[in-house]
Amino acid sequence: MLEAGKKAADHWKRENEKAALDAKRAKAKELIAKSKAEEWAINPSVHFNQWANFSAYEFSGVVKAFRELLENLRCDNESCKSYVYVVPNKGTREAMRCNCGAININLKAHK
Ligand SMILES: [Zn+2]
Repeated sequence: MLEAGKKAADHWKRENEKAALDAKRAKAKELIAKSKAEEWAINPSVHFNQWANFSAYEFSGVVKAFRELLENLRCDNESCKSYVYVVPNKGTREAMRCNCGAININLKAHK
């Protein structure tokens, strides 16, 4: 979704927005790699064996990264803290936002 946001920012020539989304995307990539979130999602039967081979230390690193990844999907505003969601929830995606509006990423790259 951040990729879509970047494309939209690029389309509308919103350079600051694009740079901010770039940074967010880089951070998300790093956390996804560290948390092995993609492996969790791909094949549930594979990861059980892999987890069994992990030491407690390695596993705590994965858990920490996964928590951080989830935290990264939430609004920073202490009185909000909602997870981001896409609007509208049906049809063409227009924006990704939180409840308070502090996060409001445009996804629309056309008129
Ligand atoms: Zn918020």
